[in-house]
Amino acid sequence: MSPQYLLAASLPEACAALSQAGPTARVIAGGTDLMVELRHERLAGNEPSGLLVDVAGLPELQGAHLEVGELWLGAGLTFSQCQADALIRERLPLLAEAARRVGSLQIRNVATLGGNLGNKSPAADGVTVLVALGALARLASAKGERQALVEDLAARGLLPGEIIVGFGLPAPATPGASAFAKVIRRQAVGIARFNIAAQLDLDRDGVVTAAGIGVGAVFPSPRRVAEAEALLLGRRPTPALWEQAAQAISDDMLRACGARPSMVYKEPALARVAARALELAWRRGQARERP
Ligand SMILES: Cc1cc2nc3c(=O)[nH]c(=O)nc-3n(C[C@H](O)[C@H](O)[C@H](O)COP(=O)(O)OP(=O)(O)OC[C@H]3O[C@@H](n4cnc5c(N)ncnc54)[C@H](O)[C@@H]3O)c2cc1C
Repeated sequence: MSPQYLLAASLPEACAALSQAGPTARVIAGGTDLMVELRHERLAGNEPSGLLVDVAGLPELQGAHLEVGELWLGAGLTFSQCQADALIRERLPLLAEAARRVGSLQIRNVATLGGNLGNKSPAADGVTVLVALGALARLASAKGERQALVEDLAARGLLPGEIIVGFGLPAPATPGASAFAKVIRRQAVGIARFNIAAQLDLDRDGVVTAAGIGVGAVFPSPRRVAEAEALLLGRRPTPALWEQAAQAISDDMLRACGARPSMVYKEPALARVAARALELAWRRGQARERP
């Protein structure tokens, strides 16, 4: 039997439906990951059943806005909306740049930021950006609401019946000082071999006053690299400092993953791409360029 489908009209209705239907209920937004998963289940002989609760159109999950220095991003934002939204382009160009690199136009038009986290992929581009920015996710369920760091959710997953409503994060002080870099196998699919999101805050002299560096696809889940961030703080970077910070990222990957055969390629490639991304973020911040 195919799964039942509910187009939820409100967040409370969606939470109640998930709670009543129990473990076989699933949230669906753009469906770009979930429909593939359902098809795989079917091909493996496990006919999907249960309930799909469609949250894509819920008003609480829409749009982006700024509130006393804090940016709010609805979980229902598609990557195309992240690319086009005027506030995101101005105050969070890092997300607009990453969104542009997701999949194809068809995918970007329906794939959501919330689904990117819900899918638990280590290579999720939007999640790497949210992790770099220290974003908090707001979650709703029949039991109430809670907040959790996106980095923790990416590592541990959601609790049963939870819906990601959106993300809150401090608006970067130097929005243009950012860069997103991604290495992929094949442009058509777009899944990263590794991705790096860098957001810096700079003072007038180009000294780094805050740094957020997220890295995905080379760890079990996207995560911040605190050692690299600490190296940049309080410094006006030089080429040697970019190399040092990038090496710290590579070393973190080696510690986490061990010496696999793929490291012969990944270790120097990640260090090189990371150094370039960090330098680009800083140069953009100096020039106040938009990505
Ligand atoms: C061809 C192709 C190319 C792709 N390229 C990229 C790429 O370049 N970069 C990238 O990062 N990803 C890529 N993806 C993966 C996918 O598009 C993204 O992960 C996307 O963000 C998923 O969002 P969605 O709305 O489609 O999620 P869905 O497929 O609807 O859901 C995905 C998972 O998240 C859960 N979920 C969805 N919304 C919520 C919510 N609000 N609350 C709680 N749980 C929720 C679902 O239950 C499900 O488990 C690609 C996928 C395909 C098929």
